[in-house]
Amino acid sequence: RFIALEGGEGAGKSTQARMLAAELAARGIPCRMTREPGGTPGAEAIRALLLGTDGEGWHPRAEALLFAAARSDHVERLIRPALAGGEWVICDRFVDSSRAYQGGAGGLSDRDVMALHAIGSEGLLPDLTLLFEVRPDVARSRLAVRDGEVADRIGGRDTSYHAAVAAAFARFATDEPERFARIDANDDAESVAARVIAALAPLLER
Ligand code: C5P
Repeated sequence: RFIALEGGEGAGKSTQARMLAAELAARGIPCRMTREPGGTPGAEAIRALLLGTDGEGWHPRAEALLFAAARSDHVERLIRPALAGGEWVICDRFVDSSRAYQGGAGGLSDRDVMALHAIGSEGLLPDLTLLFEVRPDVARSRLAVRDGEVADRIGGRDTSYHAAVAAAFARFATDEPERFARIDANDDAESVAARVIAALAPLLER
C-alpha cells in the first residue's frame, strides 16, 4: 500500500507520518516512511537545490522539472521496490504537492504537471492521499515554533500564495474523492492520528 500525506506548511504532515509509521509497525505491518522532495541520495541533492535558493528562487517551470526529477529517482529507486517487496510506503508529500504548488500557486497547468509525472514516474499514484487541512492561524502558530529551511522559505511567500495552495488541494480532493481522505488537522496530534487511522480502516482490513 502506498499512502501519501499532503497539505500546506504547518499542517502537521511530518508528525502524522511518524505516528502512522509507528502505528503500522505496532500492528506488525512492514512499512517505509519517506518524504518528498527527497528520499534517495539523488533526490535529497535536488531537495538541497530546490530549498537552498534564496531571493527569487526557481521559475515555477524549472521548479516543476526539478521536483519531477527528484520524484522519479525516489519512485524508481525506493518507492516501487518497497511496494514490490510488500512494504507499505508512507510518503510525506507526493505529486499532489506539485499540482498544488507549481500548478495551483505557480501557474503551471495541471496537464503539464501530470505530463512530467508521467515521464518521470510513469504516473504512479498513491492508493490513498491524506489531505491535512488547517486554518491559516493554526498553521502560522505551528510554524512559529519551527526553524530552518522551511520557515525561511515560507517567510518569502505571501498569504495569497498559501491560500492558493490550500484551495488547489481542496479542489483535488473534491474532484477525486476516491483518491483522497480529508483530515481536519486543527486539533492535537493524537486526535488527528485517530482520524488518520479511521480514514485508513478500509485499507487495514483488507
Ligand atoms: O516541510 P516540507 O518538507 O513538506 O516542505 C518542503 C518545501 O517544499 C515546502 O516549502 C513546500 O512548500 C515546498 N514544495 C513545493 N512543491 C512541491 C513540494 C514541496 O514547493 N511539489
